[in-house]
Amino acid sequence: MYRTHKNGELRLANKGEKVTLCGWVQKSRDLGGLTFVDLRDRYGITQLVFNMDTNAELCEKARTLGREFVIQAEGVVAERENKNKNIPTGEIEIDVTQLTILKEAKLPPFTIEDETDGGEELRMQYRFLDLRRNPLKNNLLLRNKVSLETRKYMDSLEFIEIETPYLIKSTPEGARDFVVPSRMNEGEFYALPQSPQTFKQLLMVSGYDRYYQIVKCFRDEDLRADRQPEFTQIDCEMAFVEQEDILQTFEGLVKHLFKTVKDIEFEHDFPRMTYAEAMKRYGSDKPDIRFGMEFNEMNKLVQGKGFQVFDSAELIIGITAKDCAGYSRKQLDKLTKWVQRPQIGAKGLIYVKCNEDGTYKSSVDKFYNQEELAKWAELCQAEKGDLILVLSGETDKVRTQMNELRLHMGNELGLRNPNEFKPLWVLDFPLLEWDEETKRYHAMHHPFTSPKPEDMDLIDTDPGKVRANAYDLAINGVEVGGGSIRIHDKSVQSRMFDLLGFTKEEAEAQFGFLMNAFEYGAPPHGGIAFGFDRLCSIFGGSDSIRDYIAFPKNNSGRDVMIDAPSPIAEEQLKELNLRLREVEVKG
Ligand code: ASP
Repeated sequence: MYRTHKNGELRLANKGEKVTLCGWVQKSRDLGGLTFVDLRDRYGITQLVFNMDTNAELCEKARTLGREFVIQAEGVVAERENKNKNIPTGEIEIDVTQLTILKEAKLPPFTIEDETDGGEELRMQYRFLDLRRNPLKNNLLLRNKVSLETRKYMDSLEFIEIETPYLIKSTPEGARDFVVPSRMNEGEFYALPQSPQTFKQLLMVSGYDRYYQIVKCFRDEDLRADRQPEFTQIDCEMAFVEQEDILQTFEGLVKHLFKTVKDIEFEHDFPRMTYAEAMKRYGSDKPDIRFGMEFNEMNKLVQGKGFQVFDSAELIIGITAKDCAGYSRKQLDKLTKWVQRPQIGAKGLIYVKCNEDGTYKSSVDKFYNQEELAKWAELCQAEKGDLILVLSGETDKVRTQMNELRLHMGNELGLRNPNEFKPLWVLDFPLLEWDEETKRYHAMHHPFTSPKPEDMDLIDTDPGKVRANAYDLAINGVEVGGGSIRIHDKSVQSRMFDLLGFTKEEAEAQFGFLMNAFEYGAPPHGGIAFGFDRLCSIFGGSDSIRDYIAFPKNNSGRDVMIDAPSPIAEEQLKELNLRLREVEVKG
């Protein structure tokens, strides 16, 4: 037996016991006749002591130990003279009688401490060492807890976990596919699933009316802090359900996770808002409702007074920043520059200061008198001491810009408390989204989403107005899940493919299998998928999902530890019958 105990385990009650421990050398110190070694494993740290007077040879050996050496130590549990209240094993130490070096270690390129001296890139390259540190270890433990509790909850409701294949035919979820060449089928490719969408729907046709899977999905998208080319979903589907059944079942899951993982209980149902309302009030389909600063549409009040910028705008929105009337010229200039950055793209920013003396000072004093500005303040519920910020332009653009400004102000003013959690269901998403570039409709969710029956007659006359039975769950401004009631009727499904610009033949070639299956008894069904990595990062209080994935990719989609992606051998290409066009391989 390599070890009798783990390093977080021994207490004063074990005094006098003969034990054997294994682990990594966190650090060692020589103090006169004594050498102390902190021995670490994933469970904790135990102090080992070596005594020069009683066993000089062993003590000499201990002095050769370097950081991160892997050792085995046998000895007796003793009470410590200088107790360490900060660690659970801080009252004891091990009087070592035998020491075995299991493996020497090179000096790690950064310190394996909670606060390390290693930069991001270096730590990614040595991820296996970074994972030894507590912050990352705790993230993986949290992740494990979230998956375990998910499985418990789903099991309690008779959901069964069924695996679906990774080598499939493309499923359109709006991103690019990763593809895999097939050796046995020359010239043909598999796609890696963007989600198991079509398979879970087929499982409904097969009669598995409650399915779930904690599953990898693959999307070839540009990356950000909260995106990875491969990520994990809690993917779910149910048959014989309406939207309400799904919302309740999965609100239950999220509440269960908050309770078991964070010990947070939600007394009330999660609030709900339609997509249209979310866009109008917050300019976002995933509003952060931890703070107010809602949009006020000001067209009626501000147009027709000779101010060209407003007169020519489709929409004028004002928000109120509480207690910010004291903003200096410099601060306002900075804010204006901020909204003018290309990422935001606003032309300018109008402000009104609601002074403590009841007067108003605005950047458009030329066009609006005090009485008029007082009306603005009334509309925007601004009081003395507040600052009104106004943007104008095309409806969609100005909403998006104002959303950014609102979130920015929320951050600046410390209104986005990381310890507060505000889930929100957003309902009734539009079925379709017009794409200016390609001049056609795209499915806002995916092509299998059912239109609202009451909007069905708009499908031919005004497809852009059709709402879907589609819903998202947002928490603190982050989309954590989304799904829909599905089309389970072949004729509606082919109408949908029409609208999306597929010819009959294309639709047949790509989704014939699904439409065919629908002809063999498809139950009404619907589902949802949660971004598992995102949920973990929210529970852990971080913006970056990377910290919750053992081996993530960097911003360019690279795994710098194993150096992937990488070129493959000419032999492999030949076997796949592939030739690279204009090969210009880096590195
Ligand atoms: N497949 C969808 C997604 O990945 C989720 C769903 O509709 O259930 O977003």
